[in-house]
Amino acid sequence: MAGKAKPKKHTAKELQAKAAAALTNKGGGAAGLVDRKGGAAGHAKFKCPVCGMAAPSEKSGIAHWDSKHPKLTFDFAQWTDQHAVHGGTTQGVAVRGAAKDKSVAELQKTAAGREELARREREKKMVQY
Ligand SMILES: [Zn+2]
Repeated sequence: MAGKAKPKKHTAKELQAKAAAALTNKGGGAAGLVDRKGGAAGHAKFKCPVCGMAAPSEKSGIAHWDSKHPKLTFDFAQWTDQHAVHGGTTQGVAVRGAAKDKSVAELQKTAAGREELARREREKKMVQY
């Protein structure tokens, strides 16, 4: 037998799955869903002052204006910047990143945290008996 068949602790597949789970903007409940939809601002940045149609850029705004409102004078200053009004679009609230687990002291500060602590206590007791 050649080589040292050292058992692997992590496979590349496991590590990739872990990284993807931490960095993908998914989950997060209702707040995560709203955020992925761009929050209050939505994804498109600009809003037509005449009909309210969303446009992602000035260029697409001009194209929209030429086809829908050709008789009116184009003034880009009148267009609303939705991202500025609502404080930006998607923030990535559901991205976990390298967030560490909360300490016991941190958990005791919130009702959800205290519930989590109680659940851990019950789990410990289950293991003992
Ligand atoms: Zn329009």
